Amino acid sequence: MNMGSLYLSENRIDNLKQRSKRCVCSYCGGPLTLRRIIFNDVEDARVEIFCDSCDRIEFGVEPEIYSSASNFVDNLEFNYFEGLDRNEKTRKMNISKVCEILAWGCKNMGLTNRGGFCVPVNMAQSDWAECLMMKSADIDTEKTFEEMVEEIACRPL
Ligand SMILES: [Zn+2]
Repeated sequence: MNMGSLYLSENRIDNLKQRSKRCVCSYCGGPLTLRRIIFNDVEDARVEIFCDSCDRIEFGVEPEIYSSASNFVDNLEFNYFEGLDRNEKTRKMNISKVCEILAWGCKNMGLTNRGGFCVPVNMAQSDWAECLMMKSADIDTEKTFEEMVEEIACRPL
């Protein structure tokens, strides 16, 4: 191995190390670990980022992007996989798909680089808590918005 490729592989491992500390799994949002994966036909074991809870190799995504993607899937009922049943697995697949789109967009707009976000991020989580999602069939046009909010808030869970 010459010095150039040695530098590149150390650089890669360093980058993966930082990602595993900073990022979360794009499927479950859980923590990531570095794992040495041994292939029979290759002398060097490859180091990859791994999600233990999903048991898969995972590149990882910035936690803010995961949080935004899961909010989008849960609140706007986004479904990329139309032919598949809606369950926890497809929910994770949808979140991962939105993570991919958001991560690409952030990188494309220069908001992220190899070190993560390079601009201050304000997640404004409370916006979602105050956001009310209703099906159009449930909307009573005779009532004011405030009356509907009050009615929903008084409903037993
Ligand atoms: Zn996971």
